[in-house]
Amino acid sequence: MGQQKITVPKGTKDILGEEVVWWQKVEEVVREMANLFGYQEIRTPIFEQTELFARGVGEETDIVQKEMYTFQDKGGRSITLRPEGTAPVMRAYIEHGLSVTNPRVKWFYLGPMFRYERPQAGRMRQFHQFGFEALGFSSPAVDVEIILVAYLIYQELGLSELTLELNSLGCEKCRPSYLSKLTKFLEERKDNLCANCVRRLEKNPLRVLDCKEEGCQNLFKSPSFPVIEEYLCSDCQNHQFKVEAGLENLGISYQINPFLVRGLDYYTKTAFEVKTGQLGAQDAIGGGGRYDQLSAALGVPGVAGVGFAAGIERIVLLLEKTQQETRPKKVPCLYLSPLDEEGEKQVLRLARELTKWRVPFYCDFADKGLRYHLKKAQKSGVKWVLMVGQEEIERGGFSLKNLTSGSQVFLQEDELLRLLQKEKSLC
Ligand code: AMP
Repeated sequence: MGQQKITVPKGTKDILGEEVVWWQKVEEVVREMANLFGYQEIRTPIFEQTELFARGVGEETDIVQKEMYTFQDKGGRSITLRPEGTAPVMRAYIEHGLSVTNPRVKWFYLGPMFRYERPQAGRMRQFHQFGFEALGFSSPAVDVEIILVAYLIYQELGLSELTLELNSLGCEKCRPSYLSKLTKFLEERKDNLCANCVRRLEKNPLRVLDCKEEGCQNLFKSPSFPVIEEYLCSDCQNHQFKVEAGLENLGISYQINPFLVRGLDYYTKTAFEVKTGQLGAQDAIGGGGRYDQLSAALGVPGVAGVGFAAGIERIVLLLEKTQQETRPKKVPCLYLSPLDEEGEKQVLRLARELTKWRVPFYCDFADKGLRYHLKKAQKSGVKWVLMVGQEEIERGGFSLKNLTSGSQVFLQEDELLRLLQKEKSLC
């Protein structure tokens, strides 16, 4: 009996074929926008010391409580596969002494994240995010810049009908008074809270606002439910006012959502989320905010920060759903058909020349004759087919067929290269 087939682990997937072209498109737009706004790339390790996330994301968050891939390495250290990108970025900022040498940095990243969640469409255990982080900036204009970067990336990808939700989470000065009001309100209605929220109420009441359970949601609808907006200090109010004015100035519409607390503990002031109505339950395609308290949790108080992260899987799902007609195609300019062994040698020699001229090509090297090659070329959508067999070698050149017009010419190598160089932009 044969051995059992090995499949990808639950909650992960291979990205290949036509889908990968979308991924490349997203990455291209992200890199381009980063370049235009002057955000440099940062690549942090895929695993970190567990403590970084315990302290940086927050002990009471779902991520730390339930979702981390944590293990002991062979040296007995507790290691965690990164569930998000902001805490590692702040760790790197601190570790490299930037708060002293270069306190204002703008970074972006792209890469896999890991969360042990219940997988479903748009919710994976290994998923991918791109993120933008501005460290050392406390001006609300930078919050607006971050939202603008996100907005322009979605726009460049052709994604519309998105909603931007905005909230302010206050700061260490004003949040305590809100929390005590919230706690009092919830304590008095403890019987209506789900078991999880009863625990959250003790450890971190703000997290209750994140709950999707019906009983808890019903409480939020009560007219006497305390909303954070009414408890903000003047500094936070002013900050929020400037963010809103900045968005209005850019014509970016938003909705205030007083229940938006985001899944991470370190947010202060601005919190935002970008949502779509087209992906069912997994409607968040990006989110972020200000995290002026994160650096203190990592031992260096006083580093302001604002950023956002977006999930590439969900963006690609949305692109596949709404942008089919504009799906980028990756078709080479030229299909090379060697018709015998000598032809193969010629083709490989020519391949090297074509790379110098930056002409994209594809070669199958199947020993199957012209009919096979022509069929394959036609199927791939390529414009030009180049044939090299005994006849071409004897005549010292190549046969080139235009699959669009059906015409065929015989060319010397220099003529061929010149023609393709000219034609490649039309392929
Ligand atoms: P977060 O780091 O939780 O704020 O998430 C930022 C974005 O990452 C979300 O808006 C989603 O688009 C995406 N995301 C978060 N968790 C997952 C997941 N398990 N699978 C796929 N995408 C995710």
